[in-house]
Amino acid sequence: METYNPQKLPFFPRPYPGESLYSVLCRYHVRSGNATAVKTIRQLFGGDASLSSTLLLPSAFVLRHLDAWSSACSDLCQAGFLWAHTAFSLCSLWEYSFYRYLFFDDYKPAVASRKMRSGSFRQTRIQHASQEIRYCPICAAEQKQIYGESYWQIVPQLDGVEYCPVHQVRIVSTSIHVRDFRYSFLPADTVLASPSIGTTADPIAPSPYSEIQNRPDIFVAMARCVQYLWQHLPEYSGIWFLLNRYRQLLSVPKAHELWQSASVVREKLLQNHQAKLVNWLLSQNEMVEPRYIFFSQFSLAQHAVMISLLSPSPEAFFSDALL
Ligand SMILES: [Zn+2]
Repeated sequence: METYNPQKLPFFPRPYPGESLYSVLCRYHVRSGNATAVKTIRQLFGGDASLSSTLLLPSAFVLRHLDAWSSACSDLCQAGFLWAHTAFSLCSLWEYSFYRYLFFDDYKPAVASRKMRSGSFRQTRIQHASQEIRYCPICAAEQKQIYGESYWQIVPQLDGVEYCPVHQVRIVSTSIHVRDFRYSFLPADTVLASPSIGTTADPIAPSPYSEIQNRPDIFVAMARCVQYLWQHLPEYSGIWFLLNRYRQLLSVPKAHELWQSASVVREKLLQNHQAKLVNWLLSQNEMVEPRYIFFSQFSLAQHAVMISLLSPSPEAFFSDALL
């Protein structure tokens, strides 16, 4: 039986801008020349590993191998890789303590708590509801032109991203569900060359956004906001920064009053925005008392809409902050 020696990983592909870890691993598999995915998985992880989590939020087991891979690619540093090629930065929208533990305190995956080992559950909270691999057709064509191959990006996979934030065209969904690639490498370049795998999305918004589907401007603003959050959230203190900013922009005097101020928030937003949109944004579980707004339960898409309604751009939302 082969023994795993991370020092002997012969090479590791240099990640492209905005590329998901899963996509990098797919490209590694292609270049390795390995006949089977099992062989590549064993080479990378020294054993069995599910690849599903590598699309957005790799499990602690996967993360443990980053150091070994980065020794085969001098451009990689572990923290930089996590920010640029996973969606970990978005975890701070819900679990700041987890995020702090992972990045600012000692990073010790080997002694990780059970909670951290099961970290991949958060993927469903930030991933697009379809849970299929998605892409922007113009981005894909540009990648092919610049790098000679297409790759899977992080941003089109995220909740609230229905349009490409750069090209303002609809994101296209493949028919590949996240569970379909647990043990297989499906590189973008191969998938997109095969019309039977890549499918074009119907030009309608998915059901959570049916109230606003005739507003491409909102979707573009949302997508820009999600991209900004993904890129910049680590510079701020996650959910607390957002709540503080919401409070300032809505003129709610005290922090603890924000969640009790559903009618104030609704009224302020209705001054400048359509009722349909505001209602969708503030709609929540029917079990929840309607007087309250649980911002900490907001989805990524809801935060993106909230920021878009309160500020002309995500840059303005974050840069004008009076801290
Ligand atoms: Zn694009």
